[in-house]
Amino acid sequence: MGRAARAVINLPAILNNYRLAKSLAAGAKAVAVVKADAYGHGATRVARFLEADADAFGVACIEEAMELRAAGIKKPILLLEGFFTADELPVIAEQNFWTSLHRAEQVEMIRNADLSTPINVWLKMDSGMHRLGIEPEHFVDTYQQLSSLSQVNEVVLMSHLACADELDSSHTRHQIDTFNSAVIGIDAPHSIANSPATLAWPELHRDWIRPGLMMYGASPFSESVEAASQLQCAMTLETEVIAIHTIQPGESVGYGATFTCERTTKVGTVAIGYGDGYSRHAGSGTPVFVNGQRTHIIGRVSMDMCTVDLTDLQDVSVGSRVELWGSELSVNEVAEHSGTIPYTLFTGVTKRVPRVYI
Ligand code: PLP
Repeated sequence: MGRAARAVINLPAILNNYRLAKSLAAGAKAVAVVKADAYGHGATRVARFLEADADAFGVACIEEAMELRAAGIKKPILLLEGFFTADELPVIAEQNFWTSLHRAEQVEMIRNADLSTPINVWLKMDSGMHRLGIEPEHFVDTYQQLSSLSQVNEVVLMSHLACADELDSSHTRHQIDTFNSAVIGIDAPHSIANSPATLAWPELHRDWIRPGLMMYGASPFSESVEAASQLQCAMTLETEVIAIHTIQPGESVGYGATFTCERTTKVGTVAIGYGDGYSRHAGSGTPVFVNGQRTHIIGRVSMDMCTVDLTDLQDVSVGSRVELWGSELSVNEVAEHSGTIPYTLFTGVTKRVPRVYI
C-alpha cells in the first residue's frame, strides 16, 4: 500500500455552500470562483458538480478557463483578473469567456480586435485596493468608450475589496463610497462581493456576487459570524500513523531537535509533510485529530512526515487515522496556528495528495 495521505473532497458540501451564498444574496447571480484548481479542490470536478446551479465560473487566467472548457463546462467563464493579451481576444470571444478589464490600454486592444462575436466585459475600478483597476475619475469615460464598441456586449461594473474580512472596516466603507460615487449615471450591473462581503456586507450583494473561499467551507473571518457558521466543510486532509515510539524526558523529536519531552512521551509519526502541502509553519502545538481525539504536533514538520503527541490518547496504533483539518478540525484553526490563512492551506495541497471525491 502507498502513502495514506489524501484530501477527501465533499462535492455536495461545496454545492450547499454555493447555494448558501445565493440565498444570502437573494436576487443576485453568482460567479462560482474556481481559480487555482478550485482552491485546491479540483476545478473540473467542482465545476461539473456545480454546473447546473452556477450562473458562471471565475478563474484567474485563460489556461484555467480552457481547462474547464476542455472538461465540457458550458457556462460562461469569467477571467477575474483581466490577464489577457491582444492575441487571446478572439479565443475569449469564441469560447464565451468573459473578461475583466483593468487598464485603459485594454479598451484599445478590444477596439482593434476582430472578434467572431461580441464579448462581455467586467470593467474593474480601483476603488481603494490599489492593485488593479481604472481610477474612479476615469471610470465613466472608460465605460462610455467600452460600451460604444461593436466588439462589446454587456458591461458589468466591478471592484474588489481589500478588507471585507474586517467586520467594521473604514477601508471598506471608503471603497463603497468611492465606487458608488464613480458609477453615478451608469446603468449597468454591479459586482463587488467576494466571500466576506457575501457573508457580512449585504449592501454589497448588488447584481453579481463572486464567492470563492466560502464555497470551500472556510470562513474568511477570524471572529464568529452567524452566516459563516452555516458553511459545510468541503476538504478533509487525512492520513495515518506509520510509527510509534516512546521517548524519555530530555529526549528530542525531529529535525533541529526543537522539541524536548518533559515527560515520557508516546510519539506518533504521521505520513504527511510540507511536500504534501501541510505547512512547515504548523509547529509544536498545532492541533490534529488522531482516531477522533484531539492532540497536537510536536517538533518540526518535515517533507514527508510529521510527529504528534499520542501520550494521552486511547486506542491508537500504527494505521490509526489522522485528520490534519476537515470535518473534526477547522482549517481556520490550523491556519491560525500556522501563521497563515485557509486560502494558502487549501491551494498549497500538492498534487501528490490524491483527491478523493464523495
Ligand atoms: N473576485 C475576485 C476578483 C478575486 O480575485 C477573488 C479571489 O481572490 C474572489 C472574487 C473570491 O474571493 P474569496 O475567495 O475571498 O471569496
